[in-house]
Amino acid sequence: MSLKGKTAVVTGSTSGIGHGIALALAKAGANVVVNGLGTEEENQKAIREVAAQGTRVAFDPANMMRHNQIAEMIAKAEKDFGSVDILVNNAGIQHVAPVEEFPIERWDAIIAINLSSAFHTVRAAVPGMKRRKWGRIINICSAHSLRASPFKGAYVAAKHGLAGFTKTVALELAESGITSNAVSPGFVWTPLVEKQIPDLAKSENITEDQAKRQILSRQPTMRFVTVEEVAALAAFLASEEAASITGANYTIDGGWTAQ
Ligand code: NAD
Repeated sequence: MSLKGKTAVVTGSTSGIGHGIALALAKAGANVVVNGLGTEEENQKAIREVAAQGTRVAFDPANMMRHNQIAEMIAKAEKDFGSVDILVNNAGIQHVAPVEEFPIERWDAIIAINLSSAFHTVRAAVPGMKRRKWGRIINICSAHSLRASPFKGAYVAAKHGLAGFTKTVALELAESGITSNAVSPGFVWTPLVEKQIPDLAKSENITEDQAKRQILSRQPTMRFVTVEEVAALAAFLASEEAASITGANYTIDGGWTAQ
């Protein structure tokens, strides 16, 4: 499987799953635009690690809440690298709170980053993909694109929305050589999950250890999915061999949604 000569934009790739995907795509030969709102140190570390795979790497600090910055990021990637062939919509945030206390500003931010940003990147990247008759759109959804959990109203709404958007885009582009698929991980041990442990403990009035066990109890394998496992699936969906896979939503959740 080689992605040599392809260029990938991976949103939210300074940390966690996005960083793992950027590494896997670069390992397979793709040039990569790394994006994220990490600290200067995190950004530099992420860029260094991806660049160490030997392909061209750029960093774009576009904020996924700003549609003009998103359009500029795609346009700049096309100008600097010649194309955007693989688009991974991965940037995401979480907030855990009862619906009646859910901060309005957090709702708006989650819908903007976890859902609307994918519309803006796809809208900007599709014309070039159509011209080249080749494209791979990979939306990092979640088991929460198929199942709900209490206290995660905005996240569940955004991920269900992103799964639906993935299918619509697949149908629209089915004859254009462009695929659109969702990857839906269960719990993966990343800063996003780590940060929600104290909130869950508070909402449920339990200890942080109990909160961790409660999270894992959803996953029959009783272990966190790894970043590398999600990245390998995304890299396969980006490959030539995955040309007939479109409109799919691949769970990688240790059996969670089989229940
Ligand atoms: P993470 O917190 O480790 O990384 C999130 C990335 O998104 C970071 O690079 C961050 O800088 C970036 N980001 C956040 N806000 C941004 C913004 N406004 N503009 C640009 N970049 C922004 O999280 P993660 O766990 O790696 O999550 C990545 C994706 O995977 C998210 O969409 C998340 O919903 C999804 N996911 C995670 C899990 C899990 O258990 N960790 C499970 C299912 C789905």
